[in-house]
Amino acid sequence: MNLLTCNALSQFDRLKHAFSTREGGVSLAPYEHLNLAYHVVDDPLHVTHNHDLLAEALGYERARLVYMRQIHSDLVHVVSDADDFDHPPQCDALITDRAGVALMVMSADCVPIILYDPLLHVAAVVHAGREGAFKNIVARTVQAMRERFTCKPQNLIAALGPSIGVCCYEVGLEHIQKAQQLGFGAMTQEREGRHFLHVSAIVTAQLRACGVQTIEEIALCSACHSDTLFSYRAHGVTGRIGGVIALC
Ligand SMILES: [Zn+2]
Repeated sequence: MNLLTCNALSQFDRLKHAFSTREGGVSLAPYEHLNLAYHVVDDPLHVTHNHDLLAEALGYERARLVYMRQIHSDLVHVVSDADDFDHPPQCDALITDRAGVALMVMSADCVPIILYDPLLHVAAVVHAGREGAFKNIVARTVQAMRERFTCKPQNLIAALGPSIGVCCYEVGLEHIQKAQQLGFGAMTQEREGRHFLHVSAIVTAQLRACGVQTIEEIALCSACHSDTLFSYRAHGVTGRIGGVIALC
């Protein structure tokens, strides 16, 4: 199993984290191999098996993994007793301070984000595609971490997993105009009359604007590397990788 990790999070022994890749699972084409999403109509037995393999590799209890029914919203959810593997909440960000709980964000081009406060031992995951970035879901998540857990943004560590790069993420002019309205004109490119958006750069700017200082990105384009990562843009029907953090 080929798992990607961030140096900024690897230094802490009270957590486990990783961004998964296609490698190491049992799903068949077009979901080969480590697809973690049920909603893409993969064989559910294979998806569950993949989750078991990842949980074993990272060392958390699969039943205590909370993932999300992601809807490209700015909804932030604080994990409660009602949330477990069989009851994923509908939202695009999760926060917890509970030991033994693992959080997962799934993606195939969108930006998967892990946030961690090493002083208060609070973790979050965020799903930010173009829509989530335009809605500034990372700011809402940081705000919820402040309000519910008294986290200070300057103490947070942010890890951005692989997502589609400005090399490949072509969008319509209306999305470029929206980015410009929001002050993110510098995160767009025009090449030969075509328009491209750099979503992870927008998310990084939004995190900095919130006061987050430590930001590490695994800068691999999911579409350029669709042999090792899932890419909706490159393949359409495909699987999802997971960004996971488990508190010990
Ligand atoms: Zn690319």
